[in-house]
Amino acid sequence: MKLETTLIEKLESASIAFSNWKCVSREIKQTYIKNLGKLLRSNRERYAVMITTEMGKPITQSLAEIDKCAQLCDYYSTINYLPDVRPVDTELEYSSILVEPLGVILGVMPWNFPFWQVMRFVVPTILSGNTVLFKHASICSGSAAAIQELFLNASFPEGVVGYLIADHDQIEQIIKDPRVQGVSLTGSELAGQSIAQVAGRNLKRCVLELGGSDAFIVLDDADIPRAAEDAALARLQNCGQTCVAAKRIIVHKNIEGEFMVHFIDHYSRYLPEDPLDPRTKLSRMARADLADELEQQYQRALSYGAHVVKKLERVSDTEFVPGILAVSSDNRILDEEIFGPLVLVLFCEDDQSILETANATPFGLAAAIFTTSAKRIEWFTQELEVGSVAINQIFRSDVRFPFGGRKNSGYGTELSLYAMEEFTVKKAVMGK
Ligand code: NAP
Repeated sequence: MKLETTLIEKLESASIAFSNWKCVSREIKQTYIKNLGKLLRSNRERYAVMITTEMGKPITQSLAEIDKCAQLCDYYSTINYLPDVRPVDTELEYSSILVEPLGVILGVMPWNFPFWQVMRFVVPTILSGNTVLFKHASICSGSAAAIQELFLNASFPEGVVGYLIADHDQIEQIIKDPRVQGVSLTGSELAGQSIAQVAGRNLKRCVLELGGSDAFIVLDDADIPRAAEDAALARLQNCGQTCVAAKRIIVHKNIEGEFMVHFIDHYSRYLPEDPLDPRTKLSRMARADLADELEQQYQRALSYGAHVVKKLERVSDTEFVPGILAVSSDNRILDEEIFGPLVLVLFCEDDQSILETANATPFGLAAAIFTTSAKRIEWFTQELEVGSVAINQIFRSDVRFPFGGRKNSGYGTELSLYAMEEFTVKKAVMGK
């Protein structure tokens, strides 16, 4: 299959831009990133309304997303990163490592954080000297165009950041194209398998940020009312459509009754309302087919033996009154990612079985643990098979820390200084 002319032009533009952009000093690149932060802040409301209109999250959460993007720009415009030329202490006269960008990197992005996912991929990747092309989720074409315009308005040269409208077959052709040196996908397991296969066949560098089924662990010495309130928010923000949402609440049996009273109370306060109203905590799902899928998962969980604590009620094509299911650790629904306002609750006798339950999932993105014991914190943080652990707080990605998963949640790192190293080559220089 031959690519359309517009896509070829985009590839060519990104490739030509790379030969200049890689030589631009980091100081100048950081000045442009600072401009990005200012533009995000001055267009905050406009972008937030765009996000809410496109995919339906409550307006306060869209505003918070734009603020987080601006903070990411603050971070990357001021960090003291590792130098591009790193001397190596040897007996040799020429003895160094040159860290060089790879070239044009493709980003394939999801709809659940239409600005944040793109910004967290693009900013460190171009700060390292690469240029990027990104393909957004089909429902986010407005955000995609706004993001490209944002980069141009911030003084980034033409071709450094471009967006593509492409279907899955065209994405395959673009990954194969010799001008493209790597691909970063944020999306589902299924998309990850497909993109990684194409990248693998063509020997292209690949970062995969995929789904999760995060455990939210509450031990018997925790501040129970606070943990219960946080658990409800951790599951239901963004209408449950977050990779690091608390999808499994794992509670110590000793506090089952007390925790559930508080948890059900907080959880029941989330009811679908108008997403543009600033008082709204829960709104709609992004697409009706995703809501259909959630209902099917609910029915599957019940057929595998789940017990209804609070019924999941569909009130329109995309809106639900959130549900709670109690499941035992052998319920096969635990192998699936549940992306919507439905939570699974499990009760375990002791720390060992809590840990085994938390790790008994194909995913390995993040986890949260609530306890007042330093010893238990140390043990769980060492033993949990995840990329991030939050202690006595909801897990939220933070630009100052690396972000990435293991197992079926993918591989590679975003955010922090480490993100800047993903799409680079470390060239060894040695001799007399
Ligand atoms: P998705 O259906 O996998 O789509 C993600 C992106 O990949 C979209 O742009 C989609 O394009 C594209 N895509 C899907 N299959 C493809 C293929 N075979 N070839 C080329 N491109 C393909 O995921 P989503 O529903 O948008 O997002 C939700 C998923 O993302 C959840 O699993 C969530 O956990 C995960 N996620 C992970 C992270 C993380 O950091 N780990 C963050 C956010 C979300 P189309 O829209 O055109 O199909």
